[in-house]
Amino acid sequence: MAIVPDTKDWTWVLERPCTECGFDTRVVTRESLPEGIRDNAAAWQELLLGSAGADLRRRPSDSRWSRLEYACHVRDVFRLFDRRLRLMLESDEPTFPNWDQDATAVADSYREQDPVDVAGALLDAAEILAGDFAIVPAAAWHRTGVRSDGARFSVESLGRYLIHDPVHHLHDVACDAGGVGSTSAI
Ligand SMILES: [Zn+2]
Repeated sequence: MAIVPDTKDWTWVLERPCTECGFDTRVVTRESLPEGIRDNAAAWQELLLGSAGADLRRRPSDSRWSRLEYACHVRDVFRLFDRRLRLMLESDEPTFPNWDQDATAVADSYREQDPVDVAGALLDAAEILAGDFAIVPAAAWHRTGVRSDGARFSVESLGRYLIHDPVHHLHDVACDAGGVGSTSAI
């Protein structure tokens, strides 16, 4: 069985704790976002570089991504949300270009990528995103942007929404002995 795309709208994670990973985005503040992004990236470094002997390319089941694939996805999420953040700061209520995460995973051969390269790129992407959130002007947190499905975000809710995704995927890989996981649509 191939990876089944998750087409659910996950914006409910802005309103209540995630039923799968337990993370509550409502506790995330503007000030804590950069640190949250950096802490998450550090956890992925540990997973990719510190798991001696672990098979990073092994899928726990045919329908679940491997650790390496999740890490590639998180790296790309950090890059994607930095583009979305900049777009919101530079133009009035932009519509974000659509991003098909599952098509990207196949087109970019996530399964074939080098874990050391991915770890470095994930760290770089996280640092850029954390730095950009750290310098959002006070008056800009309420600027808006619209996802291609019509979901509207402010800079603040974009940040809270974003940080759930890589946290959720750390939970996914922690469960990869056969627990419940997903490729949450973003
Ligand atoms: Zn979650």
